[in-house]
Amino acid sequence: MIELKNVSKFYYDNGIITTGFYNINLRLNLGEFVVITGESGSGKSTLLNIISGVDNYEEGEMYINGKETSHYEEKEFEEYRKKYIANIFQNFNLVNSYTVYQNIELILILNGYKRKKIKNRVLNVIEKLKLSKFKNTKVSKLSGGQKQKVAIARALVKETPIIVADEPTGNLDSESAREVIKLLSEVSKEKLVILVTHNLNQVENYATRIIKMNDGQIIENREIKKVEGQEKFEIKKHKNISILNKYKIGIRNTFNIKSKFIILLSIYFFIVSIIFFEYANLKKNEYQEKQLGFSICFSDLSDNRLIIKKSDSTSFSENDFNNIKKLSNVDYIVENDMFTDKKLTLERNSNNIHFSFYGTICDIKNLKKNLDVGKIPENDNEIILLMSKNHYNIKNTFEEIIDQNFIIKIHEKEISLKIVGIIYNENDSDYNGKFYLTTNKLNELKSYMNMDYNTITICINDKLLETQIMPSDKIIKGTAILSDEWKNIISENKIKNKKLIISLNNINFTENKEFEIKKTFTKKTFYNLTGYEDYEKNKLYVFINTVDYISLFNQPSYQSSVYVKNINDIDKTILDLNDLGITSKKVTDFKTRNSIELEIQYKIIRIILTIILLFMLFFISYFIIKVVLFSRNNYYTILRTLGATYSNVKKIINVELFIYYNLAFFTILLIFYLIKNNILNFEYIESLIQYITIYETILMYIILFLMSRLIAKNVSKNIFKDTVISSFNREV
Ligand code: ADP
Ligand code: MG
Repeated sequence: MIELKNVSKFYYDNGIITTGFYNINLRLNLGEFVVITGESGSGKSTLLNIISGVDNYEEGEMYINGKETSHYEEKEFEEYRKKYIANIFQNFNLVNSYTVYQNIELILILNGYKRKKIKNRVLNVIEKLKLSKFKNTKVSKLSGGQKQKVAIARALVKETPIIVADEPTGNLDSESAREVIKLLSEVSKEKLVILVTHNLNQVENYATRIIKMNDGQIIENREIKKVEGQEKFEIKKHKNISILNKYKIGIRNTFNIKSKFIILLSIYFFIVSIIFFEYANLKKNEYQEKQLGFSICFSDLSDNRLIIKKSDSTSFSENDFNNIKKLSNVDYIVENDMFTDKKLTLERNSNNIHFSFYGTICDIKNLKKNLDVGKIPENDNEIILLMSKNHYNIKNTFEEIIDQNFIIKIHEKEISLKIVGIIYNENDSDYNGKFYLTTNKLNELKSYMNMDYNTITICINDKLLETQIMPSDKIIKGTAILSDEWKNIISENKIKNKKLIISLNNINFTENKEFEIKKTFTKKTFYNLTGYEDYEKNKLYVFINTVDYISLFNQPSYQSSVYVKNINDIDKTILDLNDLGITSKKVTDFKTRNSIELEIQYKIIRIILTIILLFMLFFISYFIIKVVLFSRNNYYTILRTLGATYSNVKKIINVELFIYYNLAFFTILLIFYLIKNNILNFEYIESLIQYITIYETILMYIILFLMSRLIAKNVSKNIFKDTVISSFNREV
């Protein structure tokens, strides 16, 4: 079965060479119960290590079933041990954090046994060695003698032709020792049992061969009983560890040592959260930077706003708007978008208190939020106010706001509006209010507002003059009133009953309308005829009927705004609009920025710092996880002695790390979810997590996955780097 020819083993330790043994010649067969004795340090353990393939030899040749082994690679020794050898080590090599049952079960799991068979066999051997009482006790709680029994049970349960036992009775009382020896001698009938002991008395009756060693050499090799050795032992075909059992061991290892569990989980928590936050912070900075800058034309510089015009410079029709609304990424359209960029003041004076809100006018049909207070407007004079809850007037004089009439001034025209509902704005600024008006009211205000966007020219007697026009209810439709002083301006004695053409001019269109000058006014008659008070300020303006005024300025839209739902798809929306014959531009493109170069420099520095930080973090965590796993080097080496292959160990570590990073990852996602839904309240974190997209979350998971794979590979490679014995002795 096993034959050693002139085999020598030397230890190299920092340049010092120690002899384990030298020139050993030995032939051992199945059915033998071989006892090796000798002084301490005589090479007994070394010999067992070589025979059981946990260490390699330097000289000579060892034959297994007649095959040479000197050329064996580690992998072939793994195979040999798995098929042939069951070890009982001097120092037990049990897994202290496992129970007795789990320790014995482990060897069967690693050798691919089925669940049912495992249970039967384990319970059987536990019974045999009188360990039933300790079945579910952790090995760390057992006495030396009990541990020894577990080690023996574990070796017996593995169905191999050779059992190698290094002083297996050293820790047992004489009664137990005898039982164990008897047991080993029984199994030796069909196996080869090689046993090292100091106590020859105990084994004399059972041994078939006694070998005495001294100073690295065999000084006596005495056959006591001739055995009718069968030459061949039927080697059980070992299957690989099953997937289910791989997970079972992986899960067991995750939770069985509390301190390790806490350390590894914390590290994974740490990296997941730091990477998330660092990354979100970078994106937040970038986003905020994008918000910087200003535009003279536009005050609403939201990312999701597109300024649109017809490509052929005509005005938008109802049909155009309907087509735009059908685009999937379009949130809403602001047809009269000049309101969007005009900040106005809504005011009221009462009992010496001045109320005022600052904001922009919006169409109520684009209102997306629910009312916090009050009701939806029922007529055109009613509005909803969107304002910060912390606005002074809302905080302190709330009762004086709801259902009260306010004045909004657009182009000298004062319009009275009643606030009937309030929505609190998340944006805490007092300057970002919104006034939601009905579409009708909005169209009326549009006419007043349009004044600002048009050049107004009047033509009397072919003379062209630039001025302003004012609406008044006191004037008959189709007629106009102007000051007596115009006579001097246009050098005419009489302007009454003359034709007056009013022209509106802007970049989009020209509109002419004819009026008859019905009356002229003086300082005295000014108020009576027009209803305005300040003569000096208004004397050179043209006054027409309000209805005429509104219809004159009530032009279709040439420029509107589209707000998109998803900023990431905004470029696609621009293309879609283009297909509809609409030219669009992001409002952010109109922004003027200060010192772009400086910003870019800051950005580059920030990105580099973040990358360095993340890399450092990654490697620190990588290193710590590795060290923690290496601290369990002995455990993994035990797995190896029990028959686990490199890929088994790698997979078991993979499962363990998989549990850790999933626990950390999904706990953090859960926390994010709770914060996002306001079940947990962390405003800072909430402000950050909105910058993390689903793709980045997936990427993060992939990084964790790859990192853990790499660690598992690295650690298992290290464990299988050289022989079992040097792996046990390796410093962490
Ligand atoms: P025994 O088991 O008979 O007490 P060992 O086989 O443990 O003896 O040791 C035989 C010799 O080999 C001793 O001189 C011992 O110092 C040496 N030896 C054993 N293991 C190592 C090792 N890992 N490194 C260096 N020398 C060793
Ligand atoms: Mg020894």
